[in-house]
Amino acid sequence: QQAAVKPAENGLAQAVAQILSSLGVAPHVYSSGERLVRSPLTGETIGRVKDTTPAEARAAIAEAHDAYLAWRAVPAPRRGELVRLLGDALRQDKEALGRLVTIEVGKIVSEGLGEVQEMIDICDFAVGLSRQLYGLTMGSERPDHRLMEQWHPIGPVGVISAFNFPVAVWSWNAALALVCGDSVIWKPSEKTPLTAIAVTALFERVAAKFDGAPKGLATLLIGGRDVGEILVDDARVPVVSATGSTAMGRIVGERVAKRFGRAILELGGNNASIVCPSADLDLALRAIAFGAMGTAGQRCTTLRRLIVHESVYDKLVPRLKQVYANVSVGNPIASDALVGPLIDEAAFAGMQKALAAARDIGATVHGGERHTAGHSASAYYVRPALVEAPEQTGPVVEETFAPILYVLKYSEFEEAIRLQNGVPQGLSSSIFTTDMREADRFLSATGSDCGIANINMGSSGAEIGGAFGGEKETGGGRESGSDAWKAYMRRMTSAVNYGRAMPLAQGVKFDI
Ligand code: NAD
Repeated sequence: QQAAVKPAENGLAQAVAQILSSLGVAPHVYSSGERLVRSPLTGETIGRVKDTTPAEARAAIAEAHDAYLAWRAVPAPRRGELVRLLGDALRQDKEALGRLVTIEVGKIVSEGLGEVQEMIDICDFAVGLSRQLYGLTMGSERPDHRLMEQWHPIGPVGVISAFNFPVAVWSWNAALALVCGDSVIWKPSEKTPLTAIAVTALFERVAAKFDGAPKGLATLLIGGRDVGEILVDDARVPVVSATGSTAMGRIVGERVAKRFGRAILELGGNNASIVCPSADLDLALRAIAFGAMGTAGQRCTTLRRLIVHESVYDKLVPRLKQVYANVSVGNPIASDALVGPLIDEAAFAGMQKALAAARDIGATVHGGERHTAGHSASAYYVRPALVEAPEQTGPVVEETFAPILYVLKYSEFEEAIRLQNGVPQGLSSSIFTTDMREADRFLSATGSDCGIANINMGSSGAEIGGAFGGEKETGGGRESGSDAWKAYMRRMTSAVNYGRAMPLAQGVKFDI
């Protein structure tokens, strides 16, 4: 177990080994074990990790529970200090960790770095929050009484994360949970264990130097669904924050509810933008391009449906086709390509299946073909697909986690809103318009039904300051900014009688 094993002798594996070593990860941690980790950039094996056994997982949960019992007694601003130091360490290691994200997930370099920046931002947010975990006081109906609420730490928080944001999702949860007085147990995607190992090592380095950080404050479980399920079913974990597909959330939500736990579900999206007659088309074109093709279409907020008014359709869509035909696709560490690879073969198969289904409903498909020249047979690079769909049906109402943008035409504004809302998912949405009535209607109760609704920008990407999440099959969870922290705490309501009488509420009499 402790013996150092040499990583596989290929180029990317060596780069990964160097990065991990610079981040303080010992070689045996990422180069021994049964689970192969591959880079979508080339399909090469870049590491081997050992899955956490059920007994180890249960021991880690027990340790996290003990850690919580100690951590909850540490004053919140002091807990914030630990998160401040975590942010500092991330600043220092941003380049290395960002590069590891690029290698393990295939994101372009600026997006790999951007993901680490997001971790830093949420740490900053959480530090401030550590002095603002406020409750309310209310006027009591009884004389000489005070009524108030407090927010207390709740327990270990389970974090299950998806491959496409392999480190940021942990930080959205962990930075808040830690200042809230909770410990954190992380089960990352089985496709991206190396970035998780790196982040955990970085956290451990910070925690080891921090007076009062108990052992097991932030732990890691490696493995697939079976390991995740141990976390999901354990009653010592009162909150499970699960990010991934709707299929996963349906199972996790039910199992957590069965034991009266709290699930924060961040699931699939099928995000749309409406382009109105008055839209600034130059601006819209840029936003649509990043929204739909950025991260090779593998963001939960990726733009998947474009609802274009008939009067601007022939101005916008031909320009979009050109952008789609010309956008650079390739290995982001070997070129300046804007579109990197799909995560794996299954993602490619899913994309081709959706495009075939689109043809079956009479859609016209532009692009979508695989790029093989100059790439290894086990890397999946595709030209993003622009699909002119006759109606919103079949693959258009599903989330396919690949760069496919379905374009629909509308004539009446009401119809555009109906189309926007007419899918099972409810994560992100946007509208391009300079007509203020349309813009405000879109944001109103009768407008977009999504958790995120933007004006004159794309659906993709979000800032950490707002609460992030969506409705319907997206799961209803909220993470990150605003008051999302409340999901990581328990609320206590207290009435205090500072008088000498014993009045009952609602005028009830009980004179003994
Ligand atoms: P996935 O559902 O395959 O896996 C996500 C995680 O859930 C993994 O860690 C996996 O091991 C775990 N898991 C799967 N089944 C489980 C079970 N029954 N019990 C416990 N754990 C289980 O998703 P993916 O392919 O990694 O990621 C892509 C999906 O994630 C897309 O649908 C995307 O929209 C979604 N996503 C959503 C958000 C959001 O914030 N709404 C963010 C990122 C990704």
